[in-house]
Amino acid sequence: MCANLPPGESHCSPQRDRAVVTSEHGIPVTDLAPAAAEVWSRVQPDYVRALLRGEYVGGTAVSSFERLWAAYCGTRYAIGVGNGTDALELTLAGLDIGHGDEVVVPASTFVATAAAVVRAGAVPRFADVDADTLLITPETLRAAVTRRTRAVIVVHLYGQLPDMTALLATARELGILLIEDAAQAHGGQWRGRRAGSFGVAACFSFYPSKNLGAFGDAGAVVTSDPDLAEKISELANHGRTRSGHFDHRYVGRNSRLDNLQAIALEGALGLLDGWTERRIELARHYTQRLHVAGGLRMVTSSQAAHHVYHLLVVRVPGRDEVRRLLGQRNIQTGIHYPVPCHLQPPFREFAPEPLPVSEIAATEVLSLPLFPHMTQGQVDFVCDNLLDVVRF
Ligand SMILES: *Cc1c(COP(=O)(O)O)cnc(C)c1O
Repeated sequence: MCANLPPGESHCSPQRDRAVVTSEHGIPVTDLAPAAAEVWSRVQPDYVRALLRGEYVGGTAVSSFERLWAAYCGTRYAIGVGNGTDALELTLAGLDIGHGDEVVVPASTFVATAAAVVRAGAVPRFADVDADTLLITPETLRAAVTRRTRAVIVVHLYGQLPDMTALLATARELGILLIEDAAQAHGGQWRGRRAGSFGVAACFSFYPSKNLGAFGDAGAVVTSDPDLAEKISELANHGRTRSGHFDHRYVGRNSRLDNLQAIALEGALGLLDGWTERRIELARHYTQRLHVAGGLRMVTSSQAAHHVYHLLVVRVPGRDEVRRLLGQRNIQTGIHYPVPCHLQPPFREFAPEPLPVSEIAATEVLSLPLFPHMTQGQVDFVCDNLLDVVRF
Protein backbone atom coordinates (compact mmCIF):
# COMPACT_ATOMS: atom_id res chain seq x y z
CA MET A 1 0.00 0.00 0.00
CA CYS A 2 2.76 2.44 0.99
CA ALA A 3 4.43 2.06 -2.41
CA ASN A 4 1.20 3.17 -4.05
CA LEU A 5 0.59 6.45 -2.29
CA PRO A 6 -0.21 9.37 -4.55
CA PRO A 7 2.69 11.70 -5.32
CA GLY A 8 3.40 14.07 -2.48
CA GLU A 9 2.22 11.54 0.10
CA SER A 10 5.55 10.33 1.45
CA HIS A 11 4.26 9.32 4.85
CA CYS A 12 3.20 5.79 5.35
CA SER A 13 1.09 5.66 8.50
CA PRO A 14 -2.30 3.92 8.45
CA GLN A 15 -4.05 7.23 9.19
CA ARG A 16 -2.47 8.90 6.17
CA ASP A 17 -3.39 5.96 4.02
CA ARG A 18 -6.97 6.39 5.01
CA ALA A 19 -6.84 10.11 4.33
CA VAL A 20 -5.62 9.74 0.75
CA VAL A 21 -8.00 7.04 -0.33
CA THR A 22 -11.70 7.60 0.11
CA SER A 23 -12.55 4.37 1.85
CA GLU A 24 -10.96 1.30 3.33
CA HIS A 25 -11.37 -0.27 -0.08
CA GLY A 26 -9.14 2.32 -1.75
CA ILE A 27 -10.40 4.46 -4.61
CA PRO A 28 -13.91 3.41 -5.54
CA VAL A 29 -15.12 3.62 -9.13
CA THR A 30 -17.77 6.00 -7.84
CA ASP A 31 -18.74 7.36 -4.42
CA LEU A 32 -22.30 8.53 -3.84
CA ALA A 33 -21.94 9.52 -0.17
CA PRO A 34 -20.58 13.08 -0.56
CA ALA A 35 -23.21 13.94 -3.19
CA ALA A 36 -25.97 12.51 -0.98
CA ALA A 37 -24.80 14.69 1.92
CA GLU A 38 -24.93 17.79 -0.30
CA VAL A 39 -28.43 16.96 -1.53
CA TRP A 40 -29.66 16.10 1.95
CA SER A 41 -28.53 19.44 3.37
CA ARG A 42 -30.72 21.15 0.74
CA VAL A 43 -33.82 18.99 0.92
CA GLN A 44 -34.03 17.77 4.50
CA PRO A 45 -36.88 20.04 5.70
CA ASP A 46 -39.09 19.36 2.65
CA TYR A 47 -38.26 15.67 2.61
CA VAL A 48 -39.03 15.15 6.29
CA ARG A 49 -42.23 17.20 6.06
CA ALA A 50 -43.54 15.16 3.11
CA LEU A 51 -42.51 11.93 4.81
CA LEU A 52 -44.33 12.72 8.03
CA ARG A 53 -47.42 14.00 6.21
CA GLY A 54 -47.68 10.76 4.24
CA GLU A 55 -47.20 12.47 0.86
CA TYR A 56 -45.56 9.63 -1.02
CA VAL A 57 -47.12 9.13 -4.45
CA GLY A 58 -47.97 12.01 -6.74
CA GLY A 59 -47.99 15.45 -5.17
CA THR A 60 -46.67 18.91 -5.84
CA ALA A 61 -42.98 17.92 -5.76
CA VAL A 62 -43.51 15.62 -8.76
CA SER A 63 -45.09 18.28 -10.97
CA SER A 64 -42.55 20.84 -9.80
CA PHE A 65 -39.61 18.60 -10.71
CA GLU A 66 -41.26 17.67 -14.03
CA ARG A 67 -41.50 21.36 -14.96
CA LEU A 68 -37.89 22.03 -13.99
CA TRP A 69 -36.57 18.96 -15.80
CA ALA A 70 -38.43 19.78 -19.03
CA ALA A 71 -37.06 23.34 -18.90
CA TYR A 72 -33.54 22.04 -18.25
CA CYS A 73 -33.71 19.71 -21.26
CA GLY A 74 -35.35 22.27 -23.54
CA THR A 75 -38.60 20.36 -24.03
CA ARG A 76 -42.22 21.25 -23.27
CA TYR A 77 -43.00 18.25 -21.07
CA ALA A 78 -41.38 15.84 -18.68
CA ILE A 79 -43.19 12.83 -17.24
CA GLY A 80 -41.73 11.29 -14.11
CA VAL A 81 -41.75 7.48 -14.13
CA GLY A 82 -40.42 4.63 -12.00
CA ASN A 83 -37.03 4.17 -13.68
CA GLY A 84 -35.13 4.57 -16.96
CA THR A 85 -36.11 1.18 -18.35
CA ASP A 86 -39.80 1.94 -17.86
CA ALA A 87 -39.21 5.33 -19.51
CA LEU A 88 -38.04 3.50 -22.65
CA GLU A 89 -40.83 0.92 -22.56
CA LEU A 90 -43.54 3.53 -21.98
CA THR A 91 -42.17 5.70 -24.79
CA LEU A 92 -42.37 2.80 -27.26
CA ALA A 93 -45.91 1.98 -26.08
CA GLY A 94 -46.86 5.66 -26.29
CA LEU A 95 -45.72 5.68 -29.92
CA ASP A 96 -47.68 2.46 -30.65
CA ILE A 97 -44.47 0.61 -31.42
CA GLY A 98 -44.90 -3.06 -30.64
CA HIS A 99 -45.80 -6.33 -32.32
CA GLY A 100 -44.51 -6.58 -35.88
CA ASP A 101 -42.26 -3.54 -35.54
CA GLU A 102 -38.49 -3.32 -35.38
CA VAL A 103 -36.39 -0.81 -33.45
CA VAL A 104 -32.68 -0.23 -34.05
CA VAL A 105 -30.49 -0.11 -30.92
CA PRO A 106 -26.71 0.07 -30.69
CA ALA A 107 -25.01 -3.14 -29.55
CA SER A 108 -22.74 -1.17 -27.21
CA THR A 109 -25.22 -0.13 -24.53
CA PHE A 110 -26.68 -1.23 -21.24
CA VAL A 111 -29.00 -4.19 -21.75
CA ALA A 112 -32.09 -2.18 -20.72
CA THR A 113 -32.15 -0.35 -24.08
CA ALA A 114 -32.74 -3.61 -25.95
CA ALA A 115 -34.85 -5.19 -23.20
CA ALA A 116 -37.35 -2.33 -23.43
CA VAL A 117 -37.83 -3.03 -27.13
CA VAL A 118 -38.56 -6.72 -26.50
CA ARG A 119 -40.82 -5.92 -23.51
CA ALA A 120 -42.79 -3.56 -25.76
CA GLY A 121 -43.41 -6.50 -28.12
CA ALA A 122 -41.09 -5.28 -30.88
CA VAL A 123 -37.88 -6.75 -32.31
CA PRO A 124 -34.50 -5.12 -31.66
CA ARG A 125 -32.16 -4.71 -34.63
CA PHE A 126 -28.61 -4.23 -33.39
CA ALA A 127 -26.37 -1.61 -34.96
CA ASP A 128 -22.60 -1.59 -34.63
CA VAL A 129 -20.82 1.54 -33.41
CA ASP A 130 -17.99 3.88 -34.35
CA ALA A 131 -14.56 2.48 -33.44
CA ASP A 132 -13.37 5.72 -31.79
CA THR A 133 -16.46 6.98 -29.93
CA LEU A 134 -18.39 3.68 -29.53
CA LEU A 135 -21.54 5.55 -30.62
CA ILE A 136 -24.05 4.72 -33.36
CA THR A 137 -23.42 6.43 -36.73
CA PRO A 138 -25.61 7.11 -39.79
CA GLU A 139 -23.79 4.26 -41.57
CA THR A 140 -24.31 1.66 -38.85
CA LEU A 141 -27.93 2.81 -38.50
CA ARG A 142 -28.53 2.38 -42.23
CA ALA A 143 -26.99 -1.10 -42.15
CA ALA A 144 -29.47 -2.21 -39.46
CA VAL A 145 -32.69 -0.77 -40.93
CA THR A 146 -35.27 -2.91 -42.74
CA ARG A 147 -38.78 -2.21 -44.10
CA ARG A 148 -40.23 -3.08 -40.69
CA THR A 149 -38.11 -0.57 -38.77
CA ARG A 150 -40.17 2.13 -37.03
CA ALA A 151 -37.57 3.82 -34.84
CA VAL A 152 -33.98 4.04 -33.64
CA ILE A 153 -32.99 4.46 -30.00
CA VAL A 154 -29.83 6.56 -29.98
CA VAL A 155 -27.77 6.01 -26.81
CA HIS A 156 -25.57 8.82 -25.46
CA LEU A 157 -23.08 6.28 -24.16
CA TYR A 158 -20.80 7.32 -21.26
CA GLY A 159 -22.25 10.89 -21.40
CA GLN A 160 -21.43 11.77 -25.02
CA LEU A 161 -23.94 12.55 -27.78
CA PRO A 162 -23.21 11.22 -31.28
CA ASP A 163 -23.56 13.44 -34.37
CA MET A 164 -27.23 14.28 -33.80
CA THR A 165 -27.42 16.52 -36.87
CA ALA A 166 -26.47 13.62 -39.14
CA LEU A 167 -28.53 11.03 -37.26
CA LEU A 168 -31.69 13.17 -37.34
CA ALA A 169 -31.24 13.74 -41.08
CA THR A 170 -30.71 10.00 -41.65
CA ALA A 171 -33.73 9.02 -39.56
CA ARG A 172 -35.88 11.51 -41.47
CA GLU A 173 -34.65 10.20 -44.79
CA LEU A 174 -35.34 6.60 -43.70
CA GLY A 175 -38.80 7.58 -42.43
CA ILE A 176 -38.19 6.35 -38.87
CA LEU A 177 -38.56 8.00 -35.47
CA LEU A 178 -35.56 8.92 -33.34
CA ILE A 179 -35.78 8.26 -29.59
CA GLU A 180 -32.95 9.20 -27.21
CA ASP A 181 -31.73 6.97 -24.42
CA ALA A 182 -30.18 9.78 -22.39
CA ALA A 183 -29.78 7.77 -19.17
CA GLN A 184 -26.04 8.55 -19.11
CA ALA A 185 -26.10 12.11 -20.42
CA HIS A 186 -27.98 14.54 -18.15
CA GLY A 187 -27.03 18.00 -19.44
CA GLY A 188 -24.92 16.62 -22.30
CA GLN A 189 -25.08 18.59 -25.55
CA TRP A 190 -24.58 18.39 -29.29
CA ARG A 191 -23.71 21.76 -30.87
CA GLY A 192 -25.17 23.65 -27.90
CA ARG A 193 -28.46 21.73 -27.67
CA ARG A 194 -29.15 19.56 -24.67
CA ALA A 195 -29.68 15.80 -24.59
CA GLY A 196 -33.39 15.10 -24.61
CA SER A 197 -34.34 17.85 -27.05
CA PHE A 198 -33.53 16.01 -30.30
CA GLY A 199 -35.78 12.99 -30.42
CA VAL A 200 -39.55 12.60 -30.60
CA ALA A 201 -38.97 11.67 -26.95
CA ALA A 202 -35.99 11.04 -24.69
CA CYS A 203 -35.63 8.73 -21.73
CA PHE A 204 -33.71 9.45 -18.55
CA SER A 205 -32.78 7.29 -15.60
CA PHE A 206 -32.21 8.82 -12.17
CA TYR A 207 -30.72 5.62 -10.74
CA PRO A 208 -28.51 6.75 -7.83
CA SER A 209 -25.18 6.44 -9.68
CA LYS A 210 -26.26 8.39 -12.79
CA ASN A 211 -25.08 12.00 -13.17
CA LEU A 212 -28.43 13.09 -11.70
CA GLY A 213 -29.52 10.44 -9.23
CA ALA A 214 -32.40 10.00 -6.79
CA PHE A 215 -32.37 8.27 -3.40
CA GLY A 216 -33.51 5.09 -5.17
CA ASP A 217 -34.95 4.19 -8.57
CA ALA A 218 -36.54 6.93 -10.68
CA GLY A 219 -36.76 8.04 -14.31
CA ALA A 220 -38.44 10.42 -16.75
CA VAL A 221 -39.50 10.84 -20.36
CA VAL A 222 -39.17 14.27 -21.97
CA THR A 223 -40.96 15.33 -25.15
CA SER A 224 -42.47 18.40 -26.76
CA ASP A 225 -45.42 16.48 -28.22
CA PRO A 226 -48.50 17.16 -26.03
CA ASP A 227 -50.43 14.04 -27.13
CA LEU A 228 -47.47 11.75 -26.53
CA ALA A 229 -46.82 13.35 -23.12
CA GLU A 230 -50.42 12.80 -22.08
CA LYS A 231 -50.48 9.22 -23.31
CA ILE A 232 -47.24 8.27 -21.55
CA SER A 233 -48.37 9.82 -18.29
CA GLU A 234 -51.67 7.92 -18.52
CA LEU A 235 -49.98 4.63 -19.43
CA ALA A 236 -47.67 5.02 -16.40
CA ASN A 237 -50.65 5.56 -14.10
CA HIS A 238 -52.87 2.51 -14.72
CA GLY A 239 -54.10 3.90 -18.03
CA ARG A 240 -56.17 6.35 -16.02
CA THR A 241 -57.30 9.61 -17.65
CA ARG A 242 -56.35 12.78 -15.89
CA SER A 243 -59.99 13.58 -15.22
CA GLY A 244 -61.14 10.48 -13.36
CA HIS A 245 -59.68 8.10 -10.81
CA PHE A 246 -61.76 5.18 -12.15
CA ASP A 247 -61.75 6.33 -15.73
CA HIS A 248 -59.32 4.05 -17.62
CA ARG A 249 -58.47 4.71 -21.23
CA TYR A 250 -55.69 2.10 -21.69
CA VAL A 251 -54.45 -1.11 -20.16
CA GLY A 252 -51.80 0.78 -18.25
CA ARG A 253 -49.31 -0.06 -15.59
CA ASN A 254 -47.91 1.45 -12.43
CA SER A 255 -44.64 3.29 -13.00
CA ARG A 256 -44.78 6.63 -11.26
CA LEU A 257 -42.15 8.97 -9.88
CA ASP A 258 -42.40 9.04 -6.07
CA ASN A 259 -42.92 12.36 -4.33
CA LEU A 260 -39.93 11.80 -2.02
CA GLN A 261 -37.68 11.01 -5.01
CA ALA A 262 -38.90 14.16 -6.75
CA ILE A 263 -37.87 16.21 -3.69
CA ALA A 264 -34.41 14.63 -3.74
CA LEU A 265 -34.13 15.19 -7.51
CA GLU A 266 -35.07 18.86 -7.29
CA GLY A 267 -32.34 19.32 -4.69
CA ALA A 268 -29.82 17.44 -6.82
CA LEU A 269 -30.76 19.36 -9.97
CA GLY A 270 -29.51 22.57 -8.36
CA LEU A 271 -26.11 20.89 -7.96
CA LEU A 272 -25.94 19.09 -11.32
CA ASP A 273 -24.08 21.72 -13.35
CA GLY A 274 -21.39 22.10 -10.69
CA TRP A 275 -20.95 18.34 -10.49
CA THR A 276 -20.76 18.11 -14.28
CA GLU A 277 -18.07 20.81 -14.45
CA ARG A 278 -16.06 18.87 -11.91
CA ARG A 279 -16.46 15.62 -13.90
CA ILE A 280 -15.21 17.45 -17.01
CA GLU A 281 -12.18 18.93 -15.18
CA LEU A 282 -11.21 15.52 -13.82
CA ALA A 283 -11.72 13.88 -17.23
CA ARG A 284 -9.47 16.53 -18.78
CA HIS A 285 -6.82 15.76 -16.20
CA TYR A 286 -7.09 12.03 -16.97
CA THR A 287 -6.75 12.80 -20.70
CA GLN A 288 -3.63 14.89 -20.13
CA ARG A 289 -2.01 12.27 -17.93
CA LEU A 290 -2.87 9.13 -19.90
CA HIS A 291 -0.65 9.11 -22.97
CA VAL A 292 -0.70 6.10 -25.23
CA ALA A 293 1.32 3.35 -23.54
CA GLY A 294 1.13 -0.42 -23.73
CA GLY A 295 -1.78 -0.14 -26.18
CA LEU A 296 -3.76 2.06 -23.77
CA ARG A 297 -6.02 4.68 -25.39
CA MET A 298 -9.02 6.82 -24.54
CA VAL A 299 -12.50 6.49 -26.00
CA THR A 300 -12.51 9.56 -28.25
CA SER A 301 -14.71 12.58 -27.60
CA SER A 302 -15.91 14.93 -30.33
CA GLN A 303 -15.38 18.71 -30.19
CA ALA A 304 -19.05 19.32 -31.03
CA ALA A 305 -20.30 17.18 -28.15
CA HIS A 306 -20.41 18.57 -24.65
CA HIS A 307 -19.43 15.26 -23.01
CA VAL A 308 -20.68 15.05 -19.40
CA TYR A 309 -18.53 12.03 -18.46
CA HIS A 310 -20.96 9.74 -16.75
CA LEU A 311 -18.06 7.33 -17.16
CA LEU A 312 -14.38 7.78 -17.96
CA VAL A 313 -13.57 4.87 -20.25
CA VAL A 314 -10.20 3.80 -21.63
CA ARG A 315 -9.43 0.89 -23.92
CA VAL A 316 -6.61 -1.46 -23.13
CA PRO A 317 -5.64 -4.87 -24.50
CA GLY A 318 -5.35 -7.44 -21.71
CA ARG A 319 -8.03 -5.49 -19.86
CA ASP A 320 -8.95 -8.20 -17.34
CA GLU A 321 -5.34 -8.55 -16.15
CA VAL A 322 -4.92 -4.76 -15.94
CA ARG A 323 -8.10 -4.61 -13.90
CA ARG A 324 -6.91 -7.34 -11.56
CA LEU A 325 -3.57 -5.59 -10.97
CA LEU A 326 -5.29 -2.27 -10.28
CA GLY A 327 -7.58 -4.06 -7.85
CA GLN A 328 -4.51 -5.32 -5.97
CA ARG A 329 -3.48 -1.67 -5.63
CA ASN A 330 -6.85 -0.78 -4.14
CA ILE A 331 -8.16 0.91 -7.30
CA GLN A 332 -11.66 -0.15 -8.22
CA THR A 333 -12.67 -0.11 -11.88
CA GLY A 334 -15.78 -1.07 -13.86
CA ILE A 335 -16.57 -2.58 -17.26
CA HIS A 336 -19.31 -1.01 -19.35
CA TYR A 337 -20.01 -3.49 -20.82
CA PRO A 338 -18.23 -6.85 -20.71
CA VAL A 339 -20.64 -8.47 -23.20
CA PRO A 340 -22.23 -6.45 -26.00
CA CYS A 341 -26.01 -6.54 -25.85
CA HIS A 342 -26.53 -8.70 -28.92
CA LEU A 343 -24.39 -11.50 -27.44
CA GLN A 344 -26.30 -11.70 -24.15
CA PRO A 345 -28.26 -14.99 -24.26
CA PRO A 346 -31.81 -13.52 -24.44
CA PHE A 347 -30.87 -11.30 -27.40
CA ARG A 348 -28.81 -13.69 -29.53
CA GLU A 349 -31.86 -14.68 -31.55
CA PHE A 350 -32.12 -11.07 -32.77
CA ALA A 351 -28.49 -10.85 -33.90
CA PRO A 352 -27.79 -12.91 -37.01
CA GLU A 353 -24.55 -11.11 -37.97
CA PRO A 354 -21.40 -10.37 -35.97
CA LEU A 355 -20.85 -6.72 -34.97
CA PRO A 356 -17.07 -6.60 -34.82
CA VAL A 357 -16.48 -3.10 -33.39
CA SER A 358 -18.80 -3.67 -30.42
CA GLU A 359 -17.42 -7.16 -29.87
CA ILE A 360 -13.77 -6.06 -29.77
CA ALA A 361 -14.59 -3.01 -27.62
CA ALA A 362 -16.26 -5.23 -25.02
CA THR A 363 -12.95 -7.00 -24.43
CA GLU A 364 -10.99 -3.75 -24.01
CA VAL A 365 -13.13 -1.13 -22.26
CA LEU A 366 -12.25 -0.21 -18.69
CA SER A 367 -14.08 2.43 -16.64
CA LEU A 368 -11.76 4.32 -14.30
CA PRO A 369 -12.86 5.95 -11.03
CA LEU A 370 -14.72 9.22 -11.65
CA PHE A 371 -17.14 11.12 -9.46
CA PRO A 372 -17.59 14.83 -8.76
CA HIS A 373 -16.01 14.70 -5.32
CA MET A 374 -12.89 12.89 -6.48
CA THR A 375 -9.65 14.85 -6.06
CA GLN A 376 -7.01 15.56 -8.68
CA GLY A 377 -4.54 13.69 -6.43
CA GLN A 378 -6.72 10.61 -6.67
CA VAL A 379 -6.78 10.91 -10.48
CA ASP A 380 -2.97 11.12 -10.44
CA PHE A 381 -2.83 8.06 -8.21
CA VAL A 382 -4.99 6.09 -10.66
CA CYS A 383 -2.95 7.32 -13.66
CA ASP A 384 0.43 6.51 -12.08
CA ASN A 385 -0.70 3.01 -11.28
CA LEU A 386 -2.42 2.41 -14.60
CA LEU A 387 0.64 3.55 -16.59
CA ASP A 388 2.83 1.41 -14.36
CA VAL A 389 0.61 -1.64 -14.87
CA VAL A 390 0.32 -1.34 -18.67
CA ARG A 391 4.07 -0.84 -19.15
CA PHE A 392 5.17 -4.19 -17.68
C1 LIG B 1 -29.13 3.10 -16.52
C2 LIG B 1 -29.49 2.93 -17.93
C3 LIG B 1 -30.78 2.51 -18.32
C4 LIG B 1 -31.81 2.00 -17.37
O1 LIG B 1 -32.16 2.85 -16.35
P1 LIG B 1 -32.79 2.25 -15.00
O2 LIG B 1 -33.24 3.47 -14.25
O3 LIG B 1 -31.68 1.53 -14.28
O4 LIG B 1 -33.90 1.35 -15.36
C5 LIG B 1 -31.07 2.47 -19.67
N1 LIG B 1 -30.14 2.80 -20.60
C6 LIG B 1 -28.90 3.17 -20.26
C7 LIG B 1 -27.94 3.55 -21.35
C8 LIG B 1 -28.52 3.24 -18.92
O5 LIG B 1 -27.27 3.61 -18.61
